[in-house]
Amino acid sequence: MKYIQIAVDGPAGAGKSTIAKLLAKELNYTYIDTGAMYRAITLKAIEKKIDINIETEFDFIYKTNFKFKKDSLFMDGINVSQRVRNNDVSNNVSKVSSYLSVREKLVSIQQLMAKNENVVMDGRDIGYKVLPNANFKFFLTASIDERAERRHKDNLERDIKSDIKLLRTEIARRDYLDTTRLHSPLKPADDAIIIDTSHLTIDEVVSLITLRIREVENSGI
Ligand code: C5P
Repeated sequence: MKYIQIAVDGPAGAGKSTIAKLLAKELNYTYIDTGAMYRAITLKAIEKKIDINIETEFDFIYKTNFKFKKDSLFMDGINVSQRVRNNDVSNNVSKVSSYLSVREKLVSIQQLMAKNENVVMDGRDIGYKVLPNANFKFFLTASIDERAERRHKDNLERDIKSDIKLLRTEIARRDYLDTTRLHSPLKPADDAIIIDTSHLTIDEVVSLITLRIREVENSGI
């Protein structure tokens, strides 16, 4: 049996994970949040107090186990979904995700996860690196002001202290690091459908994507 793969890429705050999660629910596919995996490795490095600037310190990745259960990520059997969202993780994850050894290991795990079930996978390099033969590829963007505003609202709703100016600076920094890194920088696959979500609601984007999927399915391509 051939399983369906849907790749959703884009920068921080473009709505990727919310949209990918809803899409997976709608289609009854498994949702794989690859950003959470890079974050989890960063969290483990912080907890182990290793020097994040030394790539060889990350050998522990070969003994690390990942499992997604109902939108939650378990690392070595522990649910880390909340902890990986902490600021110290957000501010260090781009450094960790720039290491080739870390990327190669996580990409191979992600490819294995997509082998035996239908998946919606979100990240930065899914369409052109992790799942180059994905059936559908979407790249979501939004202006930096809109993305900072969304994160800010999100924080306030969760009672997290938030400074929109600082958020904007952090997002811009992460964009810069993710797009300019040597290995697998953030970019759309050549055959990805690019959607600017700046003036669209979450539901509108999900509808756009599902419509496109149904169109292709119905045309029998
Ligand atoms: O998606 P999220 O913002 O949680 O991703 C956190 C970080 O993980 C990104 O800023 C990027 O550095 C890294 N990442 C990556 N490749 C992916 C997914 C995330 O390099 N496929």
